[in-house]
Amino acid sequence: METRMPPTKDKDIYSILGVSRGASEREIKAAYRKLARKYHPDMNPGNPQAEQKFKEIQAAYSILSDPEKRRDYDRYGSDFFRHMGTPGGASAGGRDARYRTMDWDEFVRTFGAGGGSFGDFDDVISDLFGRTTRTRRPSQAVPEKGADIYQNVTVDFIDAAKGTAVNIKVNREVLCSRCGGTGAEPGSQPQTCPVCGGSGQIAGKRSMMGLGARVCPRCGGTGQIPGKVCMKCRGTGRESKLEKLEVRIPPGVHTGSKVRVPGKGLPGRNGGPYGDLLLNVQVRKHPYFRREGDNLYLDVPITVTEAVLGAELEIPVLEKHVRLRIPPGTPSGKVFRLRGKGFPHLGKAGHGDLYARIEIVPPVGVDMHSRELIREFGAANPQNPRLRKFGF
Ligand SMILES: [Zn+2]
Ligand SMILES: [Zn+2]
Repeated sequence: METRMPPTKDKDIYSILGVSRGASEREIKAAYRKLARKYHPDMNPGNPQAEQKFKEIQAAYSILSDPEKRRDYDRYGSDFFRHMGTPGGASAGGRDARYRTMDWDEFVRTFGAGGGSFGDFDDVISDLFGRTTRTRRPSQAVPEKGADIYQNVTVDFIDAAKGTAVNIKVNREVLCSRCGGTGAEPGSQPQTCPVCGGSGQIAGKRSMMGLGARVCPRCGGTGQIPGKVCMKCRGTGRESKLEKLEVRIPPGVHTGSKVRVPGKGLPGRNGGPYGDLLLNVQVRKHPYFRREGDNLYLDVPITVTEAVLGAELEIPVLEKHVRLRIPPGTPSGKVFRLRGKGFPHLGKAGHGDLYARIEIVPPVGVDMHSRELIREFGAANPQNPRLRKFGF
């Protein structure tokens, strides 16, 4: 039998509620109430981060509010979640390894609000909001969008400015191509789930939420299990897939930009849509452009002659180069601003500016005759530029 044991994430559920390991029941309840009020979906409509946080708070409280579960958690740490897959712990069930392994994320999905029953939380929540909401009894598992996955991608400086297409390889889990994700061998007859007896729900003392009913973890609420396990995925409903993708990187990205590729994340649960692929962009350094926000900075070396007489320079910009006129007597450090010659703004029209900073470079390898000319020049222009600044 194949066992798929996901790496156990170390999750300190005490820190989720912001309490110490030695916190009393009262402290835990107070912390829970405070956080549940803050992150409750009704208080944060359309905010998925708050919803996720709320679920984690619920899941953490479901353990820490129950002395027996809390003791087990203190003892086993994150291994605790592994045994939550089947009602009654690891000793029950046992035929299908899929349901016996669980990590924190899955635990949250199953036992946080929305996945499982509110159970005795209903009381606390209705208490919080001054109403009674014994709502959302699970009859069917709710379709959930799959998780997003992340991948790094590095682009050249100029490509980041102009936009580009990158070719990437994505290795991820997708729904099994043979069974379509059901885990059942095509053509086999489904059987009634032995855990819930076909109702899709389980109830009773051994459920996580006290007496509340919740979605059957064995069949996921459908009430049926495969008669014969899929030959290709052995019932997991998943297979790994390596895919080559060409992804458009928009102009104006910077290091840290996220480019979303819809539908290329992990499969959803209970028929929900795939998650997304998020490309985490890194932009390579440029040999002479420096970028701050969408403004560009450039050091422009000029000769002493150009500084004294003024000049019309050719300087680089993102697309080829432009002319920059500098007046006679331009000092080192003088900055010229070229409007709209910086980086394009990401996702909207317009560009930043280019700041060209003058840097006077003395001539090298000067011959005798030129030295004589410079000496003459110095004698004809006896200036002391330090005098004004230092007074001597
Ligand atoms: Zn399959
Ligand atoms: Zn069932």
